[in-house]
This record gives sequence, structure tokens and C-alpha cells, in this order.
Amino acid sequence: MVKIPELFGSMVFDDATMKERLPKETYKALKKTIKDGEPLDINVANIVANAMKDWALELGATHYTHWFQPMTGITAEKHDSFINPTDDGKVIMEFSGKELIKGEPDASSFPSGGIRATFEARGYTAWDPTSYAFVKDQTLCIPTAFCSYTGEALDKKTPLLRSMERISDEAVRILRVLGDDETTRVVTTVGAEQEYFLIDKDLFDKRKDLIYTGRTLFGAKSPKGQELEDHYFGSLKPRVLAYMQDLDRELWKLGIYSKTRHNEVAPAQHEMAPIFTTTNLATDHNQLTMEVMKKVANKHNLVCLLHEKPFAGVNGSGKHNNWSISTNTGRNLLKPGKNPIENTEFLVFLAAIMKGVYEYQDLLRVSVASAGNDHRLGAHEAPPAIISMFIGDDLEAVVNAIIDGKDMVKNDVGNMELGVGVLPDFKKDTTDRNRTSPFAFTGNKFEFRSLGSSLNIACPNIMLNTIVAEELSQFADEVEPAQDKQSAVKALIRRVFREYKDIVFNGDNYSEEWVAEAKRRGLLNLRSMPIAMPHFIDEKNVALFNKHNVHTRREIFSRYEIQQEEYCRVLNIEALTMLDMARKDIFPAVSRYIHELTDTCNAKKMLSTALICDAEIDLIDKLSRLLNCFYQKINVLETKVNSAREINDVAQRALYYGEEVLSAMNELRVVGDEMEVSVSSQYWPYPSYGELLYGVR
Ligand code: ADP
Ligand code: MG
Repeated sequence: MVKIPELFGSMVFDDATMKERLPKETYKALKKTIKDGEPLDINVANIVANAMKDWALELGATHYTHWFQPMTGITAEKHDSFINPTDDGKVIMEFSGKELIKGEPDASSFPSGGIRATFEARGYTAWDPTSYAFVKDQTLCIPTAFCSYTGEALDKKTPLLRSMERISDEAVRILRVLGDDETTRVVTTVGAEQEYFLIDKDLFDKRKDLIYTGRTLFGAKSPKGQELEDHYFGSLKPRVLAYMQDLDRELWKLGIYSKTRHNEVAPAQHEMAPIFTTTNLATDHNQLTMEVMKKVANKHNLVCLLHEKPFAGVNGSGKHNNWSISTNTGRNLLKPGKNPIENTEFLVFLAAIMKGVYEYQDLLRVSVASAGNDHRLGAHEAPPAIISMFIGDDLEAVVNAIIDGKDMVKNDVGNMELGVGVLPDFKKDTTDRNRTSPFAFTGNKFEFRSLGSSLNIACPNIMLNTIVAEELSQFADEVEPAQDKQSAVKALIRRVFREYKDIVFNGDNYSEEWVAEAKRRGLLNLRSMPIAMPHFIDEKNVALFNKHNVHTRREIFSRYEIQQEEYCRVLNIEALTMLDMARKDIFPAVSRYIHELTDTCNAKKMLSTALICDAEIDLIDKLSRLLNCFYQKINVLETKVNSAREINDVAQRALYYGEEVLSAMNELRVVGDEMEVSVSSQYWPYPSYGELLYGVR
């Protein structure tokens, strides 16, 4: 039996492996480049590449690939084998520093939103030495960034790394003002909790909608849904447990800190939470996690669904992005400590986040916008489309006291006195009660809860890092020149709290009152992806990304276009799948069932005219009407899909899909589901919700 500590990271060329396998000088040189973010010397790269190859060969690898994250959420890889011909007609296994540092995938089929088309046909991939190489599927995977030859980012990693640099620089500036001379770097950390559904593969294979779109497009509710809430944290069924054990092992081998596993609220829904790590590693790990989840499921004759809303009527799946900031001296900057009111460092970062979330609500909303996630946000199962932040009652009392100047009041014996009774017993656990907030302070981190389960977490983290970097840079500009820096910082914190507190909401985000209240406060409510996305290219947002060199204007516009194209494509596939199911399977099935009922009636009448056929006739009548209606809705949907495709402007097209096509789909579904309830299960062409949701035991 392999021990877990030995298993952990066994497929990763991590620090310990590097130390063990690289000559001391090379190891040092590599570490220095990683630390300083400098380009790697080719001589160093050659030695690293060779050691990496030998290590990978021992683990059975035959190929290598530059593993990257193109602008559509998935990861991409093109495998090259290590073989090189020798003079005697044989081969040797080789891997050079050049091949390690840079790759040139034939990337013409990756979306670039016009970036490559105009300038350079090719893009290149460059090793990100801050993320370790690993072996998967007998292939050495080298985490890389993907750029065009004009230096524009064609992926998600490049802007993420840029945003991490920015927040680090600006945070260090503020720390200097506060008298911290030790910290030289600041990193953001992320722990991404991942929700997913597990269903039986044999059942999955019988549903075109799941196969083509990852979600059910038809399906009447099962008699039992999630109303008993008996699934959440319930005991794990043997097949699920076997899957989770296998999953953990595979993740551990890849150095992924899978920590917690449990059932979620909906039947067949589960969650995995890892221990947090630096943001770019967490992003790579989450991409890998999603891939491994699917692969391991296959081995168990299961299918892992990562779609945001696989089933109507029960909760969909999200991803909680736990995010914090810490110094290279090991301090978590979002830790309020025992007495937050006197913790200026914490308060400054809280203020920066508060102002940032207020001013860039639109960007945070945009960062989680997708066709799948539109089914969740605001559907009373996930945070609403309105972005606000939860800080808990204790912290709100602190913020209010500061706004009111009560933190400055001294009592008779000269101690600072606060006009509230909560301190100094500031408790972490009082902050995690509200599960409805999109962005909640949970003791020593913020939990961004609006993410959909299939999202690449790079996007929201790029936004968070950049937004907070911007606010910190404004703060630093203001207080650096001040004579009395401490007082200047305090005045700034107070002003920011006063001006931006409207973004704080500790109540029930699912309630109708909040929608009205948010409107009064002037907060945005960007209800769907096509409504949210145009804000991405607002001048203030373009200026933000330009200022911090996170995105060029062209990069933003290309991403804006790619995401909307993607949205239209998803809806188009869904609509076509529905039409196919409706015409080829559902209509004929209902028609056959009506035929059987008619046959039964006729047979009865032949036997004796006294026999009653009322039930059959009633059902025939009902189903005939529904089928007629179904047929009309099929035609409406078809007309709308055809109209959608003719709209040239991508933003307009996305809006049309989101409003017209989606509502036609919903209407068709309602009729289909109504028929399912009245049709014999022997005739219904697909496994039911009941079978899908309760099929794994
Ligand atoms: P909670 O009970 O508040 O949900 P947990 O300890 O269960 O807190 O953590 C939930 C998730 O948050 C885990 O994935 C964990 O790794 C992550 N997390 C904890 N601390 C941090 C941090 N400083 N930065 C980022 N993520 C964190
Ligand atoms: Mg949590």
C-alpha cells in the first residue's frame, strides 16, 4: 500500500524533485528566475529540460506538451513525442531547453477574436516556471502562457500572472506607508470549492441533451426532489465513495490538495474543496481537477456533470472562489485579528476591496457570466446577479464606528472606546452564516460565490486582483506624500467606508426586498450574460486594464467578442438539440402512445359497446391537444433559431438568443414535460429525472 505522503505530488516535477534532480547551481538559477520573474537562461533551461525528461520517462511518459488555457475555458494540449532519430536508424529520447521554454502550437483554430488574423498567423507558448510541470496520460505537461507574436495574450494565464504582479506591487507600496519594510512581495491565494453531479453512464448515454449540451433540456420533476434536504452532508453511497477515493488519489498524485469531500444539497450532487494555494497554481489545479473528475468518473461507469444547471428544479452547481492576500513574510492581510478597529493594515485592505467591488460591480458580474451560469444567478439557489458584499455584523459595527468617528473617542481612563458592544470578542464564525451573498467575508478571506461550476477561475481572479490593485494604487498615491502618514491613512479609510458602504449588504440576497433596495442604492442588476457583457468594454474598464497592463484594448475587445460568440454557439446547440429530440423522439413517442390508447378503445368497443373508454378518450384528448401545441412550439423555436443566426452584430445576436430563443426553448420544454407526466414510461424515450438523480447507489 502506497502511503499518501509518497503518493502526493508523485507526478509533479515540484520543488523537492527539482532540488533532488538538478545540479545545485542550476536549481539556484531556476529558483532565482522564478522569484524575480526573469527570462530563463538557455543553458539553465537545457539542464532543466533534460532532468525533467529523465524524470518523466521513469514515470512512463513518451510525449510532452505545452499545456495552456485558451480563451475558451478549456485547456489545450498538443503532444509531441520525445523521440529523435539517430544515425543507425534508431531513436533516442530527447528534450531540449528550447522545447521547454517555447512551443509553437498550430493555434489557428483557437479563438483569438481577430488578434492573430490581423497581425501574425501564429502564436507561441511560453513556460510559466511558477507552475510545476507534471505527468498525466503518459505525457509531460508544461504549464504555459499562450501569446501572439505581437505579445498579446491569447490565453487566461498571461493576464492572471500580470494581475498578480500588479496587486503585489501596489500592496507593497501601501505596506511601506504603514511601516512594513520587510515584505517584498504579496501574493493572492485561492481555494476553489468545486461542485459537480455524478450520474450513471448508461443513463447518460441515452440522453442526447446531456451528451450534446451537458444539461437536460427536457425532463419532468421527479416525485422526490431536494425538498427534504436529506442529501446535504448525508452519508456517501458506496459507488460515490469509491469514486471520491479514486478521485482524491489521482488529484494527490498531481499535487492537488484535495481536502474535503461531501454531498451537496441536490440529489446526486457533490463537492470537493482543496486547501488554498497561490492563485495561478490554484487556477491550474482547478482546471486539472475538472478534467480528472470527468476521467475518473468514466472508470466507474459514471459521468461527472460540471454544467451549471444540469437539472431544472434542483440546485445547479457553482464554484466558491475563496480569495485572500498574503505577504511573502507569511502574513494574511485579510485577517482582522483580535481588535480589527485598531488593525489599520486590515482596514486599509478592507477599504480597498469595498471601493473596488463598488466601482467595478460590472466587471465582477462579467467575470462570471456564461450561458450556463445564467440559469443559476438570481434563481434563489445562488447569489443574485446583483453584486454586493457581506462583511457580517461585527465587522459592520466596526465600519460604522469608524464612519461615525467613534473609534477616536477616548473614555475616562484614556482607552479607546467603541460605541458598540461586539468588541473585543470578534468572532470568525459569525461571518459565515450568510450563504446568499455573492461576495462574503469569511473570517480571513473573501468568498466569491457567483462562479459557475465549469468556469475557468482565472477570469474572476484577474478582475479581483486588478480592481484591488487599482484601489491600492489610488490609496498609495494619496497617502505617500503625507507628512503624518498614519493620520492620512485613517482619514482615507474613514472616507472610503463612508462613501462606498452601500455595497455592503448583510441580509438575505435572495429576497425581493433586496432587489428593490439595491435599485434604490443604485447598484447594478445585470440579469443575464448578454446584458452584462457590454460593460466589459466600458471606457472606465478598458482604462483600468490598460493602466495596469493586464489587458490591452484589443485583448479586451477580442475577449468580449469571443465570449459572446461562445454564448450564441451554446444556445444554438441547445436549441438544435431540443428540436432534434422533440421531432425525432418525443413527438413520435407520444403519437405512438396515443395510437395505443386508441387501439385499446377500439378493441374494447369490438368486445362490447357497453365497455367504458372514458379514461382513454380523456387522455387521448389531453395528449392530442398537448402534442398539437408541442408541434407549434417546435416551429416557433425553429423560426427563432433561424432568425438569430442572421443577426450579424454579435452583441445583438447574443441578446436575441438570450431573450427570444431561450424563451421559445422554455415554452417548448414546458409542454414536453407536461406530456412526460401523462405518457407511459415504456414509451417515453429518455431516462426520467428520478432515474438520473437517484440512479447511483
Ligand atoms: P469556511 O468554513 O469559511 O468555508 P474553510 O476552512 O472550510 O472555511 O475553507 C473553505 C475554503 O477556503 C477552502 O478551500 C480553503 O482552502 C479556502 N481558504 C482558507 N483560507 C484561505 C486563504 N487565506 N486564501 C484563500 N483561500 C482560503
Ligand atoms: Mg465555504
